[in-house]
Amino acid sequence: MTSQNIAIAIHGGAGTILRSSMTPELQAKYEGGLQDALDAGYIILENGGSSLEAVEAAVVKLEDFLLFNAGKGAVFNHEGKHEMDAAIMFGKNLVAGAVCGVSGVKNPVKLAREVMANSGHVLLSGKGAEDFGRQQGLEFEDDDYFFSQQRYQQWQDALAEDRVTLDHTDKKFGTVGAVALDSAGNLAAATSTGGLTNKKYGRVGDSPIPGAGTYANNDTCAISCTGVGELFIRSVVAHDISCLIEYKGMSLTDACDLVVQHKLVKIGGEGGLIAIDKEGNIEMPFNSEGMYRACKNNKGRNEVKIYGGGDE
Ligand code: ASP
Repeated sequence: MTSQNIAIAIHGGAGTILRSSMTPELQAKYEGGLQDALDAGYIILENGGSSLEAVEAAVVKLEDFLLFNAGKGAVFNHEGKHEMDAAIMFGKNLVAGAVCGVSGVKNPVKLAREVMANSGHVLLSGKGAEDFGRQQGLEFEDDDYFFSQQRYQQWQDALAEDRVTLDHTDKKFGTVGAVALDSAGNLAAATSTGGLTNKKYGRVGDSPIPGAGTYANNDTCAISCTGVGELFIRSVVAHDISCLIEYKGMSLTDACDLVVQHKLVKIGGEGGLIAIDKEGNIEMPFNSEGMYRACKNNKGRNEVKIYGGGDE
């Protein structure tokens, strides 16, 4: 056990998540998935491991969990494929790695980590990123692994109406992410997503873009976002929060509030984010109905939550 502040927060997407449309069984499944991922990351921090390891381990668990829109549970694009995006960033030296539009990779966050550590680049796309992943010995899966009847039906529904939708038809962003502070004072962030159901033309959202959907800087905070990617890119959400702390001296709470509840809302940017600052303060704000989220620190905070409005 360390006496330094350690903290982790994770999300499984924000959106229209209502108690009335959830069964107790399904809720228990979601909560179990979040708890597993939280524990996988926290134990690393508790044993003195790095925030980078912790966010990767948490996101791998979320990618392997069918109900979230990342890895195994990634949504179908217009061509009936799964094109995934992911990013990881380390706040100690601002190194980052990301991939977009990749198919077949079991854990896109691992590929993002490889890009960060071994490619000499920050962002690789499509086939090139996949080739690099194979070269690095990452695990690949065939289409069956990524198939689920529920996701297939969502795609069919979206195709029939010729619309591009957020994860589920009832507006849920199932993207996953994690942020952490380790006992050495290093912050890290990671995000992974299948993007939007029925997306076309190689569309890429905010998740793999450092500064938009994912950002970590030891001087300020670590952030992972979920929501309508286009609006999060235009608002450069994650970096904006970091800048408000760095240049305006704002608290994490005030910076998150300004960006999520005001700047984003003003342009119709629905969604939320998880954030941890260098002191270990945790924020999990969202302007949608709910957000799958969880956090834990060594000061007694330990939460798994889904809905908004303090109705937990
Ligand atoms: N931000 C993601 C994207 O636009 C969607 C999500 O959060 O689920 O790709």
